[in-house]
Amino acid sequence: MTTPQEVALLDVRKAAQLFRQLHIPILGIVENMSYLSIPGSEEKVYPFGKGGGQRLSKEFGVPLFGEVPLDAELCRCGDEGKSLFESDSVCAASFLEIVKKLIHSFPTPGGEIKEIIQNTPYTFTIEWRDGNIFHYRFSDLQRRCPCARCESKKEREQAVEVVSITRVGTYGLKFAFTSGCSKGIYPCHLLRQWGEAL
Ligand SMILES: [Zn+2]
Repeated sequence: MTTPQEVALLDVRKAAQLFRQLHIPILGIVENMSYLSIPGSEEKVYPFGKGGGQRLSKEFGVPLFGEVPLDAELCRCGDEGKSLFESDSVCAASFLEIVKKLIHSFPTPGGEIKEIIQNTPYTFTIEWRDGNIFHYRFSDLQRRCPCARCESKKEREQAVEVVSITRVGTYGLKFAFTSGCSKGIYPCHLLRQWGEAL
């Protein structure tokens, strides 16, 4: 989430770098306070400049989900405890547009995990929604762990067992290993690639 002016973009770039280092995915950009609508007119006024969100979207290679205007209706609904979506404000329309794009940015159903089956302390199987079934070794995953702790470790344990497997929404899986690592999040698209390669 950014506002259009250059100072805000600087902060968002810093935050984005941090997210990337921590392997937290950035799905898209939302620009807030983008413009001011003049009631009863089509005219838009851009008090904080124009196109900041668009520039970030190009820089990061992720979609611009939408531009939320400055809207007195949003403030009024908040103060009165009413839903913005009962009004036909431009602000409500922009939120709906953002949600639509956000939903479409998630992976397709074929790339989602249907079931996780742990076979032995060392191996497990993922059954994917599109019918693919791939087998994995925990030690292989541990070797590829993207977390900061493991990235800095040259030697990684070989015979690693799993302590727990947790789903991270539809994005991927998080494992806790007997090596002590419990921070690595493995996105579905990588698990698919690795599964196919084995
Ligand atoms: Zn790790």
